[in-house]
Amino acid sequence: MRELFDLQGKVAAVTGANTGLGQAMAVALAEAGAKIALVGRSEPAETQRAIEKAGGESVAIMADLSKADCAEKVIAETVSSLGAINILVNNAGIIRRTDALDFTEEDWNDVLDTNLKTPFFLAKAAAARMVQSGGGKIINVASLLSFQGGIRVASYTASKSGLAGLTRLLANEWAARGINVNAIVPGYFATNNTRALRSDADRNREILSRIPAGRWGDPSDLAGTVIFLASRASDYVHGAMLPVDGGWLAR
Ligand code: NAP
Repeated sequence: MRELFDLQGKVAAVTGANTGLGQAMAVALAEAGAKIALVGRSEPAETQRAIEKAGGESVAIMADLSKADCAEKVIAETVSSLGAINILVNNAGIIRRTDALDFTEEDWNDVLDTNLKTPFFLAKAAAARMVQSGGGKIINVASLLSFQGGIRVASYTASKSGLAGLTRLLANEWAARGINVNAIVPGYFATNNTRALRSDADRNREILSRIPAGRWGDPSDLAGTVIFLASRASDYVHGAMLPVDGGWLAR
C-alpha cells in the first residue's frame, strides 16, 4: 500500500515554496521521497532546512512568477539540476483587496498574470517533458473563490475561477497522455495571504463560525492531499477540484 504514495525517484517543482502552503507542500513531497525544485522570488532557506532535516534534497530556482516568460527557463532548470520534472505544483499566488469600483488595471494584471497566466505556461513547459517521459502530475492551487464570488477581490476571483476551468481543460487534453491535472481547493488557512482577515476581529469571528471544523487550516493539513495527487494513488483522477476546507463548501 505504501508504494502507492511513494515518490522516491520523482522530481517535483513547487512554486512559492519559501512560505505558507507552498512550503508545507514542498516539505510533504520531500518526506514522501521526491526531490524538490523550490521556485520563487524569495530565498527558500527555511524550506531547504526543513527538507534537509527530513533527509530530502532540494534546489532553489529564482524566478519572478508575475512574468510568464520565465516558465520555460524554470522547467529547463529543474530538469538540468534534478534530472527530470514529474510533478508540478502551481502554488504561488497573490491577492489584492479593493472595491470593484476602485479596482486598478495594475491590480487586475498583476493577479491574473501571477495566478493564471504563469501557471498555464509552467504547465505547458512541464507537460512537454512529461509527454516525453511517459506522464506526470500537475497540481494547481485553486481557492474557494473558484466556486464562490467573494467580495473586494475581483482579480483574485477571476484568476481562481479561471484556474478551475484551466484545470479541467488541461485534464481533458492530457489525460490520455498519462498526465493528471487536478487542483487542490484550500479553505481558510493561516498564512501571510490571510493575515489581514485574521487580524480583523469581526471577519475572523464570521469566518470561523462558518467553518464546520471550527478552526483555520494549518498548512500541514495539505500534506496528505498533495502527496495523493502527486503519486500513483491518483492515477485515474483527472480534472478534480479537491477541497481541503474544514467543510466550508459542504455547508
Ligand atoms: P503566501 O504565504 O502569501 O505565499 C504566496 C507565495 O507565492 C509566496 O511564496 C510568494 O513569494 C509567492 N509569490 C507571489 N508572487 C510571486 C511572484 N511574482 N514570483 C514568485 N513568487 C511569488 O500565501 P499562501 O496562503 O501560502 O498561498 C499559496 C497559494 O494558496 C496561493 O495561490 C493562494 O491564492 C492559495 N490559497 C490560499 C488560501 C489561504 O487561506 N491561505 C486559500 C485558498 C487558496 P514571496 O514570499 O516572495 O511573496
